[in-house]
Amino acid sequence: MGDAASALREAAQGLSEISDSPRLDAELLMAHALRIDRSELLLKLPELKAPVEFSALVERRQKSEPIAHITGMKEFWGLDFQITPDVLIPRPDSELLIDEAVRIFGSAHPHRIVDLGTGSGALVLAALHEFPEARGLGIDASSAALQIAHNNADSLGLTDRASFMLLDWTEADWTSALGSGFDLILANPPYVSTLAPLSADVAGFEPHQALFSGADGLDDYRIIIPALEKLLSLTGLALLEIGFDQAKPVSKIATDSGYHVELKQDLGGNDRLLVLRR
Ligand code: GLN
Repeated sequence: MGDAASALREAAQGLSEISDSPRLDAELLMAHALRIDRSELLLKLPELKAPVEFSALVERRQKSEPIAHITGMKEFWGLDFQITPDVLIPRPDSELLIDEAVRIFGSAHPHRIVDLGTGSGALVLAALHEFPEARGLGIDASSAALQIAHNNADSLGLTDRASFMLLDWTEADWTSALGSGFDLILANPPYVSTLAPLSADVAGFEPHQALFSGADGLDDYRIIIPALEKLLSLTGLALLEIGFDQAKPVSKIATDSGYHVELKQDLGGNDRLLVLRR
């Protein structure tokens, strides 16, 4: 293997066929192979050699495997999360939920937070990181996902305030195990239509259980939204991530259930979040 700079150039060229961010992908894989972070890689690039394992990592990416699966990590809200194929890879768009929570609560911290469909724990753990006085609960129907969420709570130093529960909201009376009085409910439930065409890295590698929600992508909202009133404190609010084309139908489910609804866009200008209050 030669110098890292030319190996990066070559890899980025090859990856441009399968990725929208080939150069970034190559840099993340190189940093991983060198066991340094990306900023150190960029700083020291002229003097670095490409390690032998780099080309094998690039080959995996060439077959559409997500970067987060190859490196086993994904950054969310500036924090490092362990990621495996058992959990949805946290998306930058979902940081909007944390942004909004911080904006709305300000210094009036939420005390109790619940994250419905927590996966890697990204949402509840990022929220606990922002709100040092809060306690958070993450629920998920996958015990493999909860293991990852636990590991992430541990590595982020949040185990004393985070707990996790195996719970499937398709089962009757699922809310009774949770209690009530949550000031902040976070949810990025499955919301993709089973008919939607997805890219190879998503469809081929990410957990379908965390993505798909019936033919119109709304099956899980139809369960979650009417149940929120049992969980919410009097002044509490729920932040729900939605697909870019779901503002209307999900708002309708929410207003039919008696909530006041506010819609927010992500940085790309897409509808991404509904804020629900009593
Ligand atoms: N944002 C994800 C995607 O577009 C979907 C996440 C979800 O279903 N909650 O692939």
